[in-house]
Amino acid sequence: MTEDIDIYGQQVPILIRNARVNGKIQEIYLDGTGKIGAVAEKITDHEAELVLDANRATALPAMCNMHTHAAMELLRGYADDMQLFPWLSTKIWPTEAHLTESDIYAGVKLACLEMIRTGTTAFNDMYFMMEAAADAVEESGIRACLSYCMIDNGDAEKLESEKRAMQATVKNLKARNNERILPGVSPHAVYTVSEEGLRWCAEYAKAENVPLHIHVSETEQEVTDCIAAHGMRPPAWLDKCGVLSPSCIAAHSCWLDADDIRLYAERGVTAVHNPVSNMKLAGNRALPYSEMKAAGVNVALGTDGASSNNDLDMFAEMKTAAILQKFFWNDPTALPATDALQIASRNGFKALGINAGVIAPGYLADIILVGRNPMNVPCFNAESNAVYATNGLAVETTICNGAILMYDGVIPGAEEIMEEAEKAAFALTARAEAANSA
Ligand SMILES: [Zn+2]
Repeated sequence: MTEDIDIYGQQVPILIRNARVNGKIQEIYLDGTGKIGAVAEKITDHEAELVLDANRATALPAMCNMHTHAAMELLRGYADDMQLFPWLSTKIWPTEAHLTESDIYAGVKLACLEMIRTGTTAFNDMYFMMEAAADAVEESGIRACLSYCMIDNGDAEKLESEKRAMQATVKNLKARNNERILPGVSPHAVYTVSEEGLRWCAEYAKAENVPLHIHVSETEQEVTDCIAAHGMRPPAWLDKCGVLSPSCIAAHSCWLDADDIRLYAERGVTAVHNPVSNMKLAGNRALPYSEMKAAGVNVALGTDGASSNNDLDMFAEMKTAAILQKFFWNDPTALPATDALQIASRNGFKALGINAGVIAPGYLADIILVGRNPMNVPCFNAESNAVYATNGLAVETTICNGAILMYDGVIPGAEEIMEEAEKAAFALTARAEAANSA
């Protein structure tokens, strides 16, 4: 590493030497504008301001976490091992009702820190007070698609206030003019948003040309209830409301049948696999990955919020996805390691319209280096080691948009971010518990 220069957060020409790229030791040149300029065994025709020796570490495209509620970092470990409804109604919702903007900021700062530490440079988030979330993302140096989560529960008045909140969020995020911050639109789910709400969100997302992010067919109950209420399964109902399109990102998508899968493929929907969350809350079914892949559906990967996972480590998520698919569908060839890496990176970036997820000239310089450690020796196959053997803490260096955010495991300001988040978390739960026992 070049001495006496602040290496962090600078978008300058960088030469990475001695990195393992696609099984060969190569050099990677970042052109100083956020893009990869060259990948070759020896790069001699480019001047770099920073030279970094990767020490034979494996270079991988950074991870893209496609379904999160980042501020829920504050409730990590607050309530586990409960039934879904009592968990939501006695622990999560009463506490969330006391969240302030500064809590959201502290929680998202911690989420971004955890993501940088574990090799993720973009996430697709659904929550509220997204302006505070955007402040945290801007400072952290990573990318996010941030959407206000609409819930109207069939109440016409609530729908109007939810529309205003969503419009204000999209307007504010667009006005920031930051290439790393994308606005999105999120109706929560078919069971919490009315037909009018769903139709409005679909039209609004189209008019603003932004992604639409929604939970779909997470539980069997959701499917049964949707059939009882509307005479059709959730994907068909969403299609009737105009929601399914190439900009639709459907989290969970566990309980899909062959017609649902065909509909996703026809409409160009991206499905997001959330294996840890589904297993922890005993959703009892895995996203039908092999069938979806055969039908040509774009499948991405996400962790869901920290209160149902309880981490944002995409390496752990890749391993869980790969082994859950094999176990649930009784097929050890399901979701191989190369696919796990692709759903964790390229497919997510593609759905968000971000030109990353591949280490090749012209792509955005969102790159991570996974160093040598006892978990990945010997390295017969770097992809296999990344998915099955290591975890996110094996990431040594994280680069987003051509700027170094972590080098050799060090992220400037990390201690303070953890300190502030911990304080905010304890104060929040104390406030909520005092109010709820009064
Ligand atoms: Zn979720």
